[in-house]
Amino acid sequence: MIYLDHAATTPVPREVADTVYEVLTTRFGNPSSQYEAGLSMKRSVEEWRKTVAAALGCEAKQLFFTSCGTEGDNWAIEAACYQNRHLGRHIVTTAIEHNAVLECCKWMERQGYEVTYVAPKDSSGIITAEDILSAVRPDTAVVSVMMVNNEIGTVLPVQEIARGLKAKNPKTLLHTDAVQGFLKVPFSAKTLGADFITVSGHKLGAPKGVGALYISQRVRNPKPLLAGGGQEQGLRSGTEATAQIAAFAKAVELRKKTMMSARRHMEEIRAYAVEKLTAIDDLVLIGAGTAPHILSVSLAGWPSQNIVNDLGAQGICISAGSACHQGKPSHVVATLGLDKRTAGGVIRLSFGPETTFEEIDRCAEAPKMHHDTRMPMLK
Ligand code: PLP
Repeated sequence: MIYLDHAATTPVPREVADTVYEVLTTRFGNPSSQYEAGLSMKRSVEEWRKTVAAALGCEAKQLFFTSCGTEGDNWAIEAACYQNRHLGRHIVTTAIEHNAVLECCKWMERQGYEVTYVAPKDSSGIITAEDILSAVRPDTAVVSVMMVNNEIGTVLPVQEIARGLKAKNPKTLLHTDAVQGFLKVPFSAKTLGADFITVSGHKLGAPKGVGALYISQRVRNPKPLLAGGGQEQGLRSGTEATAQIAAFAKAVELRKKTMMSARRHMEEIRAYAVEKLTAIDDLVLIGAGTAPHILSVSLAGWPSQNIVNDLGAQGICISAGSACHQGKPSHVVATLGLDKRTAGGVIRLSFGPETTFEEIDRCAEAPKMHHDTRMPMLK
């Protein structure tokens, strides 16, 4: 299999899988139990929290384990709206967020909130700090802006937005969905200026089912996500997913160690893929994304789902953006103002530290074959 869909999920390295096995089989104590197996597990969870917090650039007490990025996004937006319930009922976000944010915003609309969805002005997919800040009003409770777009790889200016927001409306809270940014784009919670940062384990070599939310000290009494046994400082009750948390910390440790070399490698892979793919007639690059691991292209006039299926049958895994919904372009592609043929052909390749140049060679041959053998049948 040639796996070029690392923005969807990532393989779990052996050391991380071994960690899961060890915790499940030999260290299965409940961190809330009062005997040694529980107490030592509690200490371990706090050590793992320190590892993830250090990579994020925050204090351990500011980091809360969750089950996934979707949970972190929902919790952050709801907690920010709750803290600022007396300030107003307006939310600013972008039209290119992941559905974890967009659907949460739609839910808030049903609760009486007004939401401004800032869209890119052109096909670059770029959204500037000014675009966001000009949408902020005195009654804006929260601004939620992703760090890296998962479909086109654009990097949004979160730090600049944080600075502008503090000058314009200091009470408005800032959330960033950093699910595609964590350990790929360098940043530190300490200097970023966001009040909430969402991350997810399975995008960086941990198993599915674990993530984390950073909550800054500015959020004085965060709204609990789950009430119950009082875990996660009483804010997210439920017995800790110890094996996943251990694996998350191990994956973070491995990725952090190699972050800069992995980033350089993915940049080279991406540049190589651009070179190989642009040799194909009809191919256009989509957006002005600079994230090292995401490349969006369109084979204009070639329905993307056909390409994804055809390459999939050859063991090459890519995606049709974050899904081509029943023939319609995704909500992100729809904001770019592309013509119908180009929009219909958008595919996403996404890379990991393990991706090889040979895999790119094989992947670039496949669309060409698709073009020469399948397209004539479709015409
Ligand atoms: N946000 C972004 C930008 C994503 O790419 C994803 C997953 O693809 C999510 C949120 C949701 O994360 P999870 O799958 O951990 O719920």
